[in-house]
Amino acid sequence: MELKTSDESENLLRIRHSCAHIMAMAVQRLFKGVQVTVGPWTDRGFFYDFAWPADSPLTEKDLKKIKKEMAKIMKANLPFVREEVSAAEAEARIRAQGEPYKLEILQSILERDPNAPITIYHIGDPNAPAAAPSAAPAAAAAAAEAPAADAKPAGPKPVAPWWDLCAGPHVERTGDINPDAVELENVTGAYWRGDESKPMLTRVYGTAWETPDQLAAFKQLKEEAAKRDHRKLGAELNLFSIQESSGGGLVYWHPPGAMVRHLIETFWKELHLQRGYQLVYSPHIAKADLWKTSGHLDFYRENMYEQMQVEDETYQLRPMNCPFHVSVYKDGYYSYRDLPLRLAELGTVYRYERSGTMHGLFRVRGFTQDDAHIFCLPNQITSEIKGVLDLVEEILGTFGFSDYEVNLSTRPEKSVGSDEIWTTAEAALVEALNAKGWKYQVDAGGGAFYGPKIDIKIRDAIGRKWQCSTVQLDFNLPERFDMHYFDDAAAKQRPIMIHRAIFGSLERFFGILIENYMGAFPLWLAPVQVRLLTVNDNLTEYAQSVAAQMRKAGVRCEVVGQASIAKLIRNAEKAKTPVICVVGNKEAEANSLAVRLYGGKELGSLPVQDVISRVALATATKGAF
Ligand SMILES: [Zn+2]
Ligand SMILES: [Zn+2]
Repeated sequence: MELKTSDESENLLRIRHSCAHIMAMAVQRLFKGVQVTVGPWTDRGFFYDFAWPADSPLTEKDLKKIKKEMAKIMKANLPFVREEVSAAEAEARIRAQGEPYKLEILQSILERDPNAPITIYHIGDPNAPAAAPSAAPAAAAAAAEAPAADAKPAGPKPVAPWWDLCAGPHVERTGDINPDAVELENVTGAYWRGDESKPMLTRVYGTAWETPDQLAAFKQLKEEAAKRDHRKLGAELNLFSIQESSGGGLVYWHPPGAMVRHLIETFWKELHLQRGYQLVYSPHIAKADLWKTSGHLDFYRENMYEQMQVEDETYQLRPMNCPFHVSVYKDGYYSYRDLPLRLAELGTVYRYERSGTMHGLFRVRGFTQDDAHIFCLPNQITSEIKGVLDLVEEILGTFGFSDYEVNLSTRPEKSVGSDEIWTTAEAALVEALNAKGWKYQVDAGGGAFYGPKIDIKIRDAIGRKWQCSTVQLDFNLPERFDMHYFDDAAAKQRPIMIHRAIFGSLERFFGILIENYMGAFPLWLAPVQVRLLTVNDNLTEYAQSVAAQMRKAGVRCEVVGQASIAKLIRNAEKAKTPVICVVGNKEAEANSLAVRLYGGKELGSLPVQDVISRVALATATKGAF
């Protein structure tokens, strides 16, 4: 079953966004003194941040009650009614409600644009005769429901309308949402505006779908994902850590994780060298002037760390590698015959992320991009892009990712570069995609201001999609850095610049791999390929001599003993070691090993030399034992 994100389905986006409002309405109907703030949709659900009275905090137990109230609102099939009001009117209504956060939101909308249209959405028709006035505080509105003496006895109690500042979009009526396709998931804390100096709010997360079947499938996916959580497996398998003492979002690669990274990097470098890339290394900081020239200080500053003073100069940590590769280019002299030039670097960058938004290896502050920049002639764009797509397929395919979702983003309204170069470049990207035979979607006008791009998402073992590879053309940096080459008439020309990454970030890709493989790396990637288990201490010497032979042949192995064989096997399975060899007296006499693969498949007794050559072959071919 296809579980679409809010980006992929307008209907789900409307459902999820509407659910956030319905939840806020339900909360204010149930709990006195709770103030509303904001409640956006997420990829697969929604959340709402409430200012909850400190003396009676919300607990997970209350979620059931809220869900029931939401179902009531859905059953009442109330319309979502859009109303455009003046800023003064909006302010008056918010003040009447006593909602300080809403007032702040209104003020920040007006700060950005004093003439911004202010829209509010009512749930329930505010002009319906039975309804309470929309400006009444929510608690009073709820009270208005109390049956008056002359109330009609028949029919369900009407639900008083409720409203929120919002730009939409929503479903048409609350009844368009199936309450059995909605679930409230959990309660966490979140700072107002993500700012630690501001009050702590209560965030309620939920998920919403079109049908109960979709919700059930999503719950199953979530359970499966929890089992694979790379943070949990990363700790269990000693792959990496992120430590409070050094700061969030900064990753320590422990020996087993570092071994996997080393293998990935080696594989990556070898393939790049085969494809005519040249490796470079560049500094992690540079003078702020470099970022002024590149333009990053204008359009990327919020992602960059504070500048630092070094003697009389101002320096800054790099959020990107691009200006450095441009600097390498600029230090040379190029004729058209020297292009394309492909510079590759596993370049570590630092980007500011709010403390509340970091997540394991998926969202960090320091990470290594598998970056490369291609400088080429306009008539080389197609073949260069095609080459990148081939490399994407070969590299990602090696990890078992062969199902891609490809997106082409084209020229936005505001852009730099001539019409001619945009037309040439977009046509070249299309031609390369067609040559590859890949299906793709076009995000018309969704490109960066400096060039069109191709994004590639992969699908993992449980069907989740991950954005990994990007190929981005750039007509801006060559201009800003005044880059050139000499054409066949010895005239100066601007080269075309292509940014591209295949994994995206090594940290994030490692997280994806851990979850995809559930920690059981294939033989060629496993930090330890073979674990030798000794049934008694007399066999340690034999096992060590086998291990020495294995290491000499390049096999990564370790010897473990001093426990019952059942326990040793259990531990090897827990460590997810691909090949487990039991060493008993019989094996020692015959110079053999009793082989068992991860997952329990027994292969019986094999000569030591056979085990070594099978591991070596599987490693070389990236295949199975
Ligand atoms: Zn809304
Ligand atoms: Zn770049």
